[in-house]
Amino acid sequence: MQKYVYLFNEGNSGMRDVLGGKGANLAEMTKIGLPVPFGFTISTQACNAYYQAGKKIPSEVEKQTLASLARLEERMGKKLGDPKDPLLVSVRSGAVFSMPGMMDTILNLGMNDETVEAVATLTNNPRFAYDSYRRFIQMFSDVVLQVDVFYFEQFLEELREEKGYAADPELTAEDWQQVVAAYKEIVRKHTKKEFPQNPKDQLFLAINAVFDSWNNQRAIVYRRLNKIPDHLGTAVNVQSMVFGNMGNDCGTGVAFTRNPSTGEAVLYGEYLVNAQGEDVVAGIRTPQPIATLEDEMPEVYRQFTETCRQLEQHYNDMQDIEFTVERGKLFILQTRTGKRTAQAAIQIAVDMVEEGIIDKKTALLRVDPDQLNQLLHRRIDEKHERVLLTKGLPASPGAATGQVVFDADEAEQLSNKGKKVILVRPETTPDDIHGIVAAQAVVTSRGGMTSHAAVVARGMGKACICGCEALKIDLHGKKFSVGDTVIHYGDVLTIDGSTGEIMSGEIPMIEPELSDEFQLLLAWADQERKMGVRANADNPEDARKAFEFGAEGVGLCRTEHMFMDSKRIPIVQKMILAEDSEERMAALDQLLPMQQGDFEGIFEAMKGHPVTIRLLDPPLHEFLPDKEELIIDVTRLQLTEPDSPELHKKEQLLRKVRQLDEFNPMLGHRGCRLGMIHPEIYEMQAKAIFYAAAKMAEKGMNVNPEIMIPLVGHVNELKKMRQLVTVCGKRVQDETGIEINYTIGTMIEVPRAALTADQIAEEADFFSFGTNDLTQTTFGYSRDDAEGKFLQAYIEQKVLQENPFAVLDQEGVGKLVETGVQLGRKTNPQLKAGICGEHGGEKNSIEFCYKTGLDYVSCSPYRVPLARLAAAQATIKQNKAVYSTF
Ligand code: PEP
Ligand code: MG
Repeated sequence: MQKYVYLFNEGNSGMRDVLGGKGANLAEMTKIGLPVPFGFTISTQACNAYYQAGKKIPSEVEKQTLASLARLEERMGKKLGDPKDPLLVSVRSGAVFSMPGMMDTILNLGMNDETVEAVATLTNNPRFAYDSYRRFIQMFSDVVLQVDVFYFEQFLEELREEKGYAADPELTAEDWQQVVAAYKEIVRKHTKKEFPQNPKDQLFLAINAVFDSWNNQRAIVYRRLNKIPDHLGTAVNVQSMVFGNMGNDCGTGVAFTRNPSTGEAVLYGEYLVNAQGEDVVAGIRTPQPIATLEDEMPEVYRQFTETCRQLEQHYNDMQDIEFTVERGKLFILQTRTGKRTAQAAIQIAVDMVEEGIIDKKTALLRVDPDQLNQLLHRRIDEKHERVLLTKGLPASPGAATGQVVFDADEAEQLSNKGKKVILVRPETTPDDIHGIVAAQAVVTSRGGMTSHAAVVARGMGKACICGCEALKIDLHGKKFSVGDTVIHYGDVLTIDGSTGEIMSGEIPMIEPELSDEFQLLLAWADQERKMGVRANADNPEDARKAFEFGAEGVGLCRTEHMFMDSKRIPIVQKMILAEDSEERMAALDQLLPMQQGDFEGIFEAMKGHPVTIRLLDPPLHEFLPDKEELIIDVTRLQLTEPDSPELHKKEQLLRKVRQLDEFNPMLGHRGCRLGMIHPEIYEMQAKAIFYAAAKMAEKGMNVNPEIMIPLVGHVNELKKMRQLVTVCGKRVQDETGIEINYTIGTMIEVPRAALTADQIAEEADFFSFGTNDLTQTTFGYSRDDAEGKFLQAYIEQKVLQENPFAVLDQEGVGKLVETGVQLGRKTNPQLKAGICGEHGGEKNSIEFCYKTGLDYVSCSPYRVPLARLAAAQATIKQNKAVYSTF
């Protein structure tokens, strides 16, 4: 018979797949003798069996659950539902990968009309007993019975008002008793049934609900964002309760063994005295920093810091620990690998190597490449004055500017319209996740550094400020005030998540730099990786930035971008509109020195590293004005200035635009097809490259231009273009007397090129896989339309797991890449191969490129650090066949 239920002393941290992260860690902590309240874990397989049985708990799972419950009761010396000395338990979800706050939890299970009296007598604290019971009714009703918490909150609010209380601690035992009665009435009214009194019924209903919560909306969204597979299921942890709300010698808190925001090696956390479980994370009361626990409960603090040290050493990583103090006794409720900002991830990884806790390879695997762009975010330019509105807790670093919105849906709507928004809320809940995704930053007036908003924003690398109590938020009136200042919906704010400062208006920002630790980690990455990392850079400035970020060359210089400059576009247009070759040559002669200057700048920035320059790729109409706008202009001029030269010019333009108009421009006259029909354009570009190279060589600089022909589908295209470039090269070398070290290669970006790569490689010194076009042409999806039209739905309906324009489709497009490399190297063993599509800056695609034997990846300058790390991880993973820790 399959084992579905494990007591905490039957598992260990290696059983994450079965017990979920939380269950595995509870078992591990039990094993190493930490004070963990005892319990058992119902496995993720049980969750899957539940779904397979049509959302019913299979009888075997029920049997094993009851058997484990009996063992738990034995161990605790208490029984669930015992009217004299009842066992109370918590029922919590716990997936394989942590999904904080996304699924459901129920505390104080086992409370009913009888047991509440026993708890009141045993604790000699009826106030505590009734308060616990009402919490249970509210949580259970919300999660299991689907009664909206609003009804309970509303009643409590009215009662507080009626009695003139400012906060819950003022409520007496009698008040809570009254609340319990009213809550039961609310349940009766909304469910037409009594609140369930039988604790075993409560238990199984709760287990059902936790299994169901695996598929609630927010959990699904979270999984999609974090790429967690849907089939894993969640485990359920049933654990005996300890209480942090029995009085002032009790409390509950959350702490990280190191600062999750900066990585600093100091205990970091917060707690609330006389509070229960979720109060800290829920962000309803603003907690106290952990350091003050030392004054309030010195012995507990000492024991806690020792436990933190022990747990960090045991797991060799920064831990996020939940604890409760019940009548002066410390209990550890959970430990897990702490989520952290990129800055903290790097600092902790580097520190732990220096402290001898982990080796460099492990350190490299500890930082998620996707997180690194947080560090490449802008920050506020210190030169500009900050007119401070107010300050909150610096919950997640980075700076942002945006319009204020007060709800998650609005954040999403405005952001879809291209607006930048800052989500301002009293606190956030997991239901706000789509708003947090859409916003530039989040500000809350309540809650601490471990509140939901803070944890989620840090994970996403968004700026966040929490606990900003000076904000008086009026959600209904869509405004907030700070003192006398009122900020309305749509007003612009700037926030600095690293200092907690909130400013009105927009403040200029500056580009980020790499910290010493970051540089060190990247230097370790460079020692490990076997694949080169280059950048896609189209001008000297981008090339300089790329070089600074560690690019070892330019993998793609899109020369068309050099044509887009406002001073150059009229010349480009003249070239396109030319009626004869003389006119065209004149325009090209004007363009040549401009391109040459850019190439010189790029060569200089790359200091002798190879620079791949692609000859013109886009269809010519992209350099002309929009057809519809031209029609409007021409019509207007015909009516107002029928004889003007302006009209003549516009008519001429319109004629040309119509001539160049295509049904499918992406499959039309572009790429090397331009060079075939207008060789003079490619000749001008080739000459500009050679002149620039000659000039640099003359100055004593080592230059290695790699001239790349785009969109080749047939070897004969490349043969012709190669000849064209070679002739130009010879002419310039003869003319200048300078020998230039150059190569000629092609992009592989249509399936036919990949399939006939053996033929093409005979004419090419290198291949660069243009996976943007290759994805477009392999799927037959227009890269300009698919993402806006149907791809999202495809991903939601799981037709596709990922957006193939962002993450390389290894099974399809990837197969063509593999084929291309293998066939190419068959006829040309020296063939150099790289990738320059967007996928060159995406970690999974980079790993694939390494496995496929590519020599380098090329990506935008800001992704170069990411690519360096991802390339190192690919090497380490392949060598050690270890799995990454994120
Ligand atoms: C590609 O197609 O992958 C590529 C890099 O070229 P572009 O995006 O300019 O078409
Ligand atoms: Mg392309």
